[in-house]
Formats: sequence, C-alpha cells, structure tokens
Amino acid sequence: MLLLDGKIAAASVKEDLKKLTATIAASGKPAPHLAAILIGNNGASETYVASKVKSCEECGFKSTLIRFEETVDEAELLAAIQTLNNNQDIDGILVQLPLPKHIKEQKVIEAIDPSKDVDGFHPSSIGKLVQGLPTFIPATPYGILLMLEHFNIQTKGKHAVVIGRSNIVGRPMSILLSSNIAQGNCTVTICHSHTHNLKEICLQADIIVAALGKPEFVLPEMVKEGAVVIDVGITRVTDPTAAKGFRIKGDVHFSSVAPKCSAITPVPGGVGLMTIAGLLKNTMQAYQNNRG
Ligand code: NAD
Repeated sequence: MLLLDGKIAAASVKEDLKKLTATIAASGKPAPHLAAILIGNNGASETYVASKVKSCEECGFKSTLIRFEETVDEAELLAAIQTLNNNQDIDGILVQLPLPKHIKEQKVIEAIDPSKDVDGFHPSSIGKLVQGLPTFIPATPYGILLMLEHFNIQTKGKHAVVIGRSNIVGRPMSILLSSNIAQGNCTVTICHSHTHNLKEICLQADIIVAALGKPEFVLPEMVKEGAVVIDVGITRVTDPTAAKGFRIKGDVHFSSVAPKCSAITPVPGGVGLMTIAGLLKNTMQAYQNNRG
C-alpha cells in the first residue's frame, strides 16, 4: 500500500514555486500577492487561513490577511472585495468559508474578480472548467490532481466514484476526473445523500474520492481490493483525551481500509496540504496572467 503523503507532494509543489519566485525577485519584479479575508473566529477557519499565510511566506509570496468581526455587514464585505479587485498589487483573493449566516455566500463568490479567483469558486471559473478551458481549478480538486500526478497514479479508463457533490469539492472533482486531461479520462460516478446502493457502487470503484464530511464513513466492505482512496473529509470530533479536546477525522476509516488499497491519503497530512498547494499554484498563475 502506497501512502499518498501530502507533506511530500506539497513540498515538491512549493519547491517549484519557490524557484519561480526567486527568478521573479532576481528580475526586480514584485512577488505574487494573495489577499485572504477571514470573518469571525471559527477555530478551523483560523487554522486554515494561518496555514495559507505561512505557506505564502515559505514560497516567497506576499500575503495580506484582512479580518472582519462575525457581525460584519454584507455591504462592507463586498466593498472590501471590490477594493482588492481594483488593487493592482493583489493577484489572488480568497474569502475563507463558511460565512456567517447573514451573508450570502454566492454573492461574495461572485463579487471576486474572476482574474483573481484563486479559490476557483466563481461561476465563470467553474463554467470554463466544465468546457475544458484554462481557468482556476478549485483548490481542493486541483490539489488532488497534483497529488495524483506526484505519485504517478494512473487514472485513464478507470472507474472513479466521487462521494459528495458540493460546488467546491465533489462536483468539480467529478468533472475533472472525467475530463480529457492527464489525471482524468476516468468513467465517473458521482454519489450524494440520495444515492441508493452506495456500498455496491463504491465496490466497483478503482478510485474513490470521499468528500461527504461524515467521519470514518467509508468502511473496508465498501472498497475493492487494490483501489485508490482519496479522503477529502476533515471533521473535528470531540475527544477529551486529545490535547486540543478534539481529533481531526477523515471520511474514511483509515486503519481498516488502508490494507485493502493500492494507495490511500492520510488525514491529516493528505488532501488538506494539497489544497494549499493548489491555492498557491493558482496564485502564481494569476500573477503570471495579470502581470507576469
Ligand atoms: P458539503 O457538506 O458541502 O457536501 C457534502 C456532500 O456529501 C453533499 O453533496 C451530500 O449530498 C453528500 N453526502 C452527505 N451525506 C452523504 C451520504 N450519507 N452518502 C452519500 N453522500 C452524502 O461538504 P464539502 O464542502 O464538499 O466538504 C466535504 C468534506 O470535505 C468536509 O469534511 C470538509 O471539511 C472537507 N473539506 C476538506 C478540504 C481539504 O482541503 N481537505 C477542503 C474542503 C472541504
């Protein structure tokens, strides 16, 4: 069984980006610049944004973190995004989700200039992805493609089962795996909360991407011998014995599923790290498109 270690694959992506930023710096040009907006003080969101900012530093990118109180007015947030859209010094903009209930997520996503949409959530980015045009691939599916590429996992002609149909993970992942790209050309089945016979469908999969947000949902009896399993899930499960009072669980019961797999991602240390790698690659792409 091959462990698809996100630390290794992400380090390789970051190394390449570091070389690029060094070349940019040597030519006297400004560094790529990511602006991240964080609203409120959700513990998981704080952690994600801190990792993104730290990774920017590691790669020689500039980053700006803009924080708002949980009670921020939607209009104020949209105005801040507009200011970033107009700022020539900013290449990429991300708004950390989830948002407080009084703010319309779709409105915020659509406020970001598509040329700076490094999370790849804008309808224009998704539309291009569907048509196979160059665009920003949503960071998590992009990270998974980079992971598959790094470990040379063959996808052509394979049956991939994606569990989950969210706009940010499951749906774009299913489109990418079915696309005519290096890490695509799969026959794809996309499953969701209304799918019947999920176990039987999963048993037919050469590749399973679990993105449903239900800790340890995928069990060995759902997995074919030799399958590749990509675990996207990240759930904080309360555990008084853990130092922080919780443990991070994936959507796959790792210890029992891993022995059946030809390759599997761990949680933590798998797809989460690749999501940041995907975001950084998109930020570099935005920089090259806009002022490279
Ligand atoms: P979501 O809640 O938006 O979507 C979950 C999807 O799973 C839905 O489409 C739903 O239909 C499906 N689903 C729910 N229960 C199901 C069931 N019993 N059987 C089949 N399908 C079912 O979630 P999301 O934003 O796509 O995130 C999914 C998971 O991935 C979460 O744990 C989230 O924290 C994690 N996540 C991780 C990363 C990362 O970088 N690793 C990034 C984004 C999300």
